[in-house]
Amino acid sequence: MTYNEEDYLQLSGIQHFAFCPRQWALIYIEQQWKENIYTYMGQELHEKAHAAGAEKRGDVIVTRAVPLASKTLGLYGVADVVEFHRTDGPGVKLDRRAGRWLPLPVEYKLGSPKPTNCDKLQLCAQAICLEEQFNVTINIGYIYYGRPRRRLEVELDRSLRNETYAVAEAMHAAFAVGKTPKAEVTKSCAKCSLVDVCVPHLFERRPVQRYLRSALTKGSWGDGIEEAP
Ligand code: SF4
Repeated sequence: MTYNEEDYLQLSGIQHFAFCPRQWALIYIEQQWKENIYTYMGQELHEKAHAAGAEKRGDVIVTRAVPLASKTLGLYGVADVVEFHRTDGPGVKLDRRAGRWLPLPVEYKLGSPKPTNCDKLQLCAQAICLEEQFNVTINIGYIYYGRPRRRLEVELDRSLRNETYAVAEAMHAAFAVGKTPKAEVTKSCAKCSLVDVCVPHLFERRPVQRYLRSALTKGSWGDGIEEAP
């Protein structure tokens, strides 16, 4: 399946969608965005990653702020960093550089590796874009985490690729529907930059019996109105 360019969605949304479809919808459908300390520091890190131009380090050429697009994912965006590694195998030719070079995506993240695949999905989507743009196969990419400072090599295997396509497809379907899903309270809400906009606890369903029991044991209906969590 391929998408028309006018239907492309932002690649960075894939991590938001995997983190929480409601957060993605609030940002990309309702155009709401709120800064918190995590988003602010994350932007600083990305700006640093984009700051310098291309540079050569031995057999690696580091390029920054690389435009990306994939017609099979229907996504577009910008890679923080793409490293071109000199290779004896299949690769691309670069202007004024001898030999062949394999592009590998490097994504910068403020925090530490997450228990979910959010960051890996974003990286994999970037790799798929590069594969289409340069007509190469990319088996690995890197995520640079700020806490602790380390670079994680990520294998872009079939399972991760399938998940990336599935999430991208779900994003397109959700965008076509154009509705923001209801909140589901998870541990992620505590670090969510949109928690004040989302107010997820308003969506929590409390059994009527629990509410009534609470109200009765407190002695009056007024006292029984539970405080907001
Ligand atoms: S507060 Fe929770 S439910 Fe709401 S958008 Fe954020 S992660 Fe999703």
